[in-house]
Formats: sequence, structure tokens, C-alpha cells
Amino acid sequence: MISLNLVLMGLPGAGKGTQAERIVEKYHIPHISTGDMFRAAMANGTDLGKKAKEFMDAGALVPDEVTIGIVRERLAEKDCEKGFLLDGFPRTVPQAEALDEILKDQGRSIEFVLNINVDKEQLMARLTGRRICKSCGSTYHLIFNPPSKENVCNRCGGELYQRADDNEETVLNRLNVNINQSVPLLTFFEEKGILRNVNGQQAIEKVFEDITKLLDQLT
Ligand code: AMP
Repeated sequence: MISLNLVLMGLPGAGKGTQAERIVEKYHIPHISTGDMFRAAMANGTDLGKKAKEFMDAGALVPDEVTIGIVRERLAEKDCEKGFLLDGFPRTVPQAEALDEILKDQGRSIEFVLNINVDKEQLMARLTGRRICKSCGSTYHLIFNPPSKENVCNRCGGELYQRADDNEETVLNRLNVNINQSVPLLTFFEEKGILRNVNGQQAIEKVFEDITKLLDQLT
């Protein structure tokens, strides 16, 4: 049976969410985002949610044993038989090693790790470009969705502002934390020969086309 066992990687702002949506729709595989699973568990007030909350609130990683446990359970579900797209997992090398073991027990392995590459300068521009209207809350983006008149809301004429956590220092810090986390993982996957870099500095459709070219080699 043909299966697509995939991991999707990319720094904040690289367009991972956008590409994930397209991949799961075209290839009919479940989108497994550990962040989404933790948020759902928190919203439902489950034991898992309670365990995850203190770490998530502190912006820290949930301990590996908890995270690996939920992924193990999720991958054993029927809808993952023909493959899956992991998003936000693995985040650490021990998680990547555990994933190998989980899949080995099921007689399968990761085929590709798709890494959407966008350089740091471009990510900074994307992440700091958001502007919000003080009066009506409409959102804009200096690059992707600029207002017709600088700093003025198209809808209501209100003044636009930048959210405090979209400022350069906070965004740069967030990016650096993510880069430091991802480097050892990328090396791990590269050494296994399963890393596939995708140029994320292209139109959304072109990025997706490059991904489908890679995935169609597998199907
Ligand atoms: P995300 O939506 O992927 O940014 O994840 C949101 C939060 O969930 C992270 O800041 C972590 O606290 C937690 N989380 C998600 N995935 C993992 C993971 N693979 N390992 C540890 N913590 C995770």
C-alpha cells in the first residue's frame, strides 16, 4: 500500500499552516498538529490539557514523555494507516528518535521531512508587517495586504497600529528560539537522507507545486 508518512517543518511565518492545509486536502491524509491537540485538550479541560497548560502558558515545550505519548496514540488510529502530516512534532531530537521507534513498531517510517525555507530577513518582514485598525480591528499587512493609504484603515478611516508582540525585538527573539530548536532536528533528518528543502520564498501556489512534485515521486 502506498503511504505518505510526512513531517512538515518551517519557521514561524514560513507558510507552514497554508501549505499543510493544501497537502492534507490533496493527499487525503490527517493533519496532526501537536499544538492544536494541546489547545483542544486545554479547551476541553482534560487531564492532558491540564498537564500541558503550565508549559504552554510559560511558552515552554511540553515534556517529551507527554508529547510522545499523545503522538503514539494518535498515529495508531485508523485514519493514519495511509499516512499523515505531522506539524509541530518532532520538536526535539529525542522526539524524533521516539517517532522512529513508534513507526518501526508499526512497520513503517517517515518518507519525507518537508522543510519550508524562508530566510530570516524575509521572515522578519512577514512577521512584523501586521497592522491593526484602532477603531474597527480590521487587519492589514504591509507586504501582503497593505491599506490604500499609509496607516489609514480602508474600511473606517481609523488609525493603524502594530501589536506589541509583533514588534521587531519580540519577533526576532521568537525566531531565534525556533532556529536554535530546529537546527539539530534538520541535521538529524539530513543525515537520514529524508530531508527535502522547499523554497518558501515564492508564491503560495508555486511552493505547493514544488511540494506536490516531491510527493508525487512517492505515490
Ligand atoms: P504550536 O502551535 O506548534 O506553536 O505549539 C504551541 C505550544 O504547544 C508550544 O509552545 C508548546 O508548549 C506545545 N507543543 C506543541 N508541540 C510540541 C512538541 N512537539 N513538543 C513539546 N511541546 C509542544
